[in-house]
Amino acid sequence: MADARTIGIDLGGTQVRVALVEGGRLLARAAEPTDVAGGPRAVLSQFRRLMEKVLPPAGWSGIDGIGICSPGPLDSETGTILGIPTLPGWEGLPMRDILAQETGRPVVLENDGIAAAHGEWRHGAGQGLRHLVYVTVSTGIGGGVVLDGRLLHGRRGMVAHVGHLPLSLDGPRCACGGIGCFEAFASGTALARAATLAVASHPDSALARLGTERITARHVVEAARQDDALAQSLLTEEARYLGTGFTALLHLYSPDAIIMGGGVSQGYDLLEPDIRRTVQERALPAFREVSILRAALGEDSGLIGAASLVPAGQDDRHVDGAVPVSWPAV
Ligand SMILES: [Zn+2]
Repeated sequence: MADARTIGIDLGGTQVRVALVEGGRLLARAAEPTDVAGGPRAVLSQFRRLMEKVLPPAGWSGIDGIGICSPGPLDSETGTILGIPTLPGWEGLPMRDILAQETGRPVVLENDGIAAAHGEWRHGAGQGLRHLVYVTVSTGIGGGVVLDGRLLHGRRGMVAHVGHLPLSLDGPRCACGGIGCFEAFASGTALARAATLAVASHPDSALARLGTERITARHVVEAARQDDALAQSLLTEEARYLGTGFTALLHLYSPDAIIMGGGVSQGYDLLEPDIRRTVQERALPAFREVSILRAALGEDSGLIGAASLVPAGQDDRHVDGAVPVSWPAV
């Protein structure tokens, strides 16, 4: 039997990306900047437009369903968005039912970290493993976990919000409102903030020359590749935070591997030695040999993972018992 063809949607705070996926491969893709100001109604129109672009000539026939991933928290059991800090106005939106009713196809809604863990497990760096923890390090930090050969979900599908693992009693304020979270120390946003502070006292550094308007994590990686000592010391600090967070995850889940994705993983080769050194220093001896790997699917882990969550081989192309859903007041 041929692999199922499904549609993957990755709803991010900056981009909506849609792809036609078969066996973990992207057959067609399309993207637009997320219409954050337009709210759910505008973004659902973006979904429609982008899906039209990637559908094969035969349209929806032969498409088994839609897998959509989004930042959380969301309730993947009911297919409902609970509240996305970067997308205000989406609270309580029955995303799964709206899309199922519009398209007549089964829809799976999944947290983006969990979807990406699934993508890396089925089609990326975690193929063949029984236990893995995926960590995405970008604007924030998110994750997903496979244990004993199963993708974990937890209550309301909210497992593995690893960015909010507290690393310290005090420290920077996190986007979640908490203090001392892993994300507040080690996200791309935190790295950019540390870099912005550092260049003020090092105006002659390569980093200061690269990020003349606004310094991002990407600038830090670029400058470190040009042997800029300031950028290299910022990455050493970043790697120590990552290694500390990863050590907590090793102890908590006992995976075969930790897989790192997200924008900051573009500097993975530079970060890896100090991440490993930190794990060697901080983990219990029995956990020290666990592999730490870079994600293999890059920015597509979530897109491919969500698309691969759709149950295959549905003969009835329509969703039985789908109840009419009304548009939320926006
Ligand atoms: Zn937090």
